[in-house]
Amino acid sequence: MTPSFSSYLINDVFGDPGVYVEVRWSKRALLFDLGHNDALGPTRLLRATDIFISHTHMDHFIGFDAVLRVALGRGKILRLYGPPGLIDNVQGKLRGYTWNLVDGYPLSIDVREFRRGELHGASFHASAGFQLCRHPPSPLAADDTSDIFSVLTDPMFTVRAVALNHRVPSFAYSLEEQFHINVNKQKLHEAGLPVGAWLKDVKQHIWRGRPDDFRFTATLYDEHRREERDFVLGELKARFLTISRGQKIVYVVDARYDDENEAKIVSLAKGADVFYCESPYLEADAEKARDRYHLTARQAGLMARKAGVRDLVVFHFSPRYTGQGDALEREALDAFRGG
Ligand SMILES: [Zn+2]
Ligand SMILES: [Zn+2]
Repeated sequence: MTPSFSSYLINDVFGDPGVYVEVRWSKRALLFDLGHNDALGPTRLLRATDIFISHTHMDHFIGFDAVLRVALGRGKILRLYGPPGLIDNVQGKLRGYTWNLVDGYPLSIDVREFRRGELHGASFHASAGFQLCRHPPSPLAADDTSDIFSVLTDPMFTVRAVALNHRVPSFAYSLEEQFHINVNKQKLHEAGLPVGAWLKDVKQHIWRGRPDDFRFTATLYDEHRREERDFVLGELKARFLTISRGQKIVYVVDARYDDENEAKIVSLAKGADVFYCESPYLEADAEKARDRYHLTARQAGLMARKAGVRDLVVFHFSPRYTGQGDALEREALDAFRGG
């Protein structure tokens, strides 16, 4: 099975926190947090259309400029989601530069900030010199009693968020594929059909919710031979595809270990395939971690265990442990595996 999301840390475990998620079958990517991100390079930064910010402490937001720079001059809408105050933060960043020569640029920046029960939005258009344009607020309802709410619903996936206590709200996110589409290559082969880009189109039709009687023409390439074929979506589904459980990725940074945060994190991370969780401190320094509103490696491991995740990735290590990254990882994994 080829997973639809391929995710990884942007930097080393001691570097600025952030996760990059490539979405297969579509040329886009999601970005969690905006710390230093030069390591991604312009192509990958450009592909990021939706960016989710935990909070705007410097190590989570200093990379905004890098994204802006590559996106400038592109016909693109950059969507940013995050904490109360994000619109002001973006406006402040934009005001740091002179914009007299961008009026022909088609870039728009769309900012959505989560306030208590309300989504506040604003746009900044390059063509208008990035002047602030506010949208009327809309209600933001929690999905259930757990305080987790949906922030982006796409035919292929949903992104949910929950506010954690970091002395300021710090948002944790989950990314869940609605379902996964597997292609049976053996059966395709038996039917004399080649694999190739046409299958991406088939997947797109399914993600977009096209009905089973949807008819379309696909271009197939078989050893340099090009052929146009007509298909009915439902028939392809029945013969060559299986639909299974989708992937789930969870991103948690900068939060204190307390009952409320723990309950929210465990509920958000439930059954995740990959759980990215900060673990800046060793348990021996738990008091320091609490004072600084951060987690220890053991706390990250215990929550991963409670949430029954498949994989735990710890990061955002404090520089005080430089050279002891292994100890942080070991402590987290021991707690995760129940050692
Ligand atoms: Zn912070
Ligand atoms: Zn941080």
